[in-house]
Amino acid sequence: MPVKAPGDAETLREHFAWVYGNLAMTHAALTEGASSYGRLHYMIRGRFRKGYLTGTMSMRPLTDDERTKIEHGSSCCYCGARGPLTLDHVLPKLTGGADAAENISYACKSCNSSKGPRDMVLWLVNRGRFPSVLVFRRYLKLAAQAASSAGLLDTPWSEVPGDALPFDKRSLRVEWPALAEFEMWPSASGGGPHV
Ligand SMILES: [Zn+2]
Repeated sequence: MPVKAPGDAETLREHFAWVYGNLAMTHAALTEGASSYGRLHYMIRGRFRKGYLTGTMSMRPLTDDERTKIEHGSSCCYCGARGPLTLDHVLPKLTGGADAAENISYACKSCNSSKGPRDMVLWLVNRGRFPSVLVFRRYLKLAAQAASSAGLLDTPWSEVPGDALPFDKRSLRVEWPALAEFEMWPSASGGGPHV
């Protein structure tokens, strides 16, 4: 069921709604162990997208993501590796990400130094690995908070200055991969669903 992604003239809010809907769709499909998206999943996407835009739905608080972080506290949130972990700012401090617990995740040394001050989503996509659902969800909430504090939610995407926010706005337009490429949380083997 092809649905048009937001274009240049549409606002950041529209873009957040789009990704929010996509994440809800993928989350639902993974939770029920589906092998591909079905009608119901597309309906969920539409409902969440619209709900976010009309204000009847909002992103759940970051405390949920803190719980997830603790549950998965023994593996890197980007590649799933175990072993010595470091603290990584999801939205880089260098680009204005907050030095607060909700913006800090556990990452292996290799991911932490490779990511550096880069945007998390674009960095992972460039490495051929889409962010897992739970990691993208945390990122999306942080990014939406930042855009809201900057008063840019209702600015058309193309008019948002590239350096105005602690994330890269292009992350809201990444091509959404097939369901088989998603994981709820990254596994060390990399990509694909658990068998
Ligand atoms: Zn890693």
